[in-house]
Amino acid sequence: MITGKNYKFWFCTGSQDLYGDECLAHVAEHAKIIVAKLNEAGTLPYEVVWKPTLITNELIRKTFNEANVDEECAGVITWMHTFSPAKSWILGLQEYRKPLLHLHTQFNEEIPYDTIDMDFMNENQSAHGDREYGHIVSRMKIERKVVVGHWSDSVVQEKIASWMRTAVGVIESSHIRVMRVADNMRNVAVTEGDKVEAQLKFGWEVDTYPVNEIAESVAAVSEADTNALVEEYYGKYEILLEGRDPAEFRRHVAVQAQIELGFERFLEEKNYQAIVTHFGDLGALKQLPGLAIQRLMEKGYGFGAEGDWKVAAMVRLMKIMTAGKKDAKGTSMLEDYTYNFVKGKEGILQAHMLEICPSIADGPISIKCQPLSMGDREDPARLVFTSKEGKGIATSLVDLGNRFRLIINDVDCKKVEKPMPKLPVATNFWTPQPDLYTGAEAWILAGGAHHTAFTYDLTAEQMGDWADAMGIEAVYIDKDTNIRDFKRDLKLGELFYR
Ligand code: MN
Repeated sequence: MITGKNYKFWFCTGSQDLYGDECLAHVAEHAKIIVAKLNEAGTLPYEVVWKPTLITNELIRKTFNEANVDEECAGVITWMHTFSPAKSWILGLQEYRKPLLHLHTQFNEEIPYDTIDMDFMNENQSAHGDREYGHIVSRMKIERKVVVGHWSDSVVQEKIASWMRTAVGVIESSHIRVMRVADNMRNVAVTEGDKVEAQLKFGWEVDTYPVNEIAESVAAVSEADTNALVEEYYGKYEILLEGRDPAEFRRHVAVQAQIELGFERFLEEKNYQAIVTHFGDLGALKQLPGLAIQRLMEKGYGFGAEGDWKVAAMVRLMKIMTAGKKDAKGTSMLEDYTYNFVKGKEGILQAHMLEICPSIADGPISIKCQPLSMGDREDPARLVFTSKEGKGIATSLVDLGNRFRLIINDVDCKKVEKPMPKLPVATNFWTPQPDLYTGAEAWILAGGAHHTAFTYDLTAEQMGDWADAMGIEAVYIDKDTNIRDFKRDLKLGELFYR
């Protein structure tokens, strides 16, 4: 179900009519070459579209307003080839509502020492014009990304690519609709939050349905459809009976197949892209959705357990931001469960009762059927695996009562030393940066939750830029974090976001 439109980004070059037609012809030609080369490079996840050079207040305003209403346009890239008096940009920028990138580049890479004259200088003065433009954007307090360097540099192109995914996250945030088929777990604080404020800030729609409405959709799934999906599971995953009767095991798996199909149809029919459940509120469902939810997450649905709609929306957001990424390693809800405090091997075992997305799996994926230690239903079938190694980010969006804060922690995912044959759930294992002690202390000081939205495929910068665009606080826990500075940052955040 991961969709995401065929987004495009407009490339708008600024200039003015002071320099004559010949110069403006060069400006347009250069911009067209840059756009063509950026598209050819294969680094950008979305297409860049050249737009006629912006030289007047009227054209700037018109172009930004066209970008606003063009459904495929996810953002505008601006660059001042020459000098463009920035008052010309005020009205357009005031009315513009989508993500903005300021590409601070110039057409030529090297100063042409032998031939450079004043004509060349006047035609190629981004170093000068981009400062004038940057000033007005700063004065207007407009959130934007600034990328500096020659456009042919792969580092610059990677930065543009990275920003494009953030921009799509900004645009797509307002298309996220979360279905709650259970309230937040009783007495739990951190999964709570202000849903009206979330819609104001992020555009998320969070709606409740009685669990038995979705249970009816599950019951309506035919035996034939269910059996066909069970066949698919048996072909795709290892079956770990662990002494259970094969026919009984298969019946348990079939319950999850029926839930997957029933949930998916209900979500599609009602146009939701994320869902929350709760083990204590299952209505007529025979099992806690485990394998079913894992498969839906893999298809791109957001999920949060125990009514955690913030995590459900964040997982969906990250799924859409990483959609189509080459060599993507996966995105999932996770939960901080158990520590390893052995010196030199410190880390946090990540898991949940059941619901971890198999997109993060490394190696074979098995189906197991085991009792749940909580709840009062049949033993649910679930997918069990361990996760990939490598860098990732764990994020937690918390509601502090008067505002939201996004906590972003760089983490290093590792293999655990030994297999855990008695653990019937999927796991990940990571060491938070800068180390377990500082990382966990900072996380707790910031009020971070036990549930996280985790991905291997986005960076802290991308999520922090998203938070900036949403107008909320972002705090970073990474290799540079020390507690004294971190506490000061939290205090500054209290002032800034009050
Ligand atoms: Mn939980």
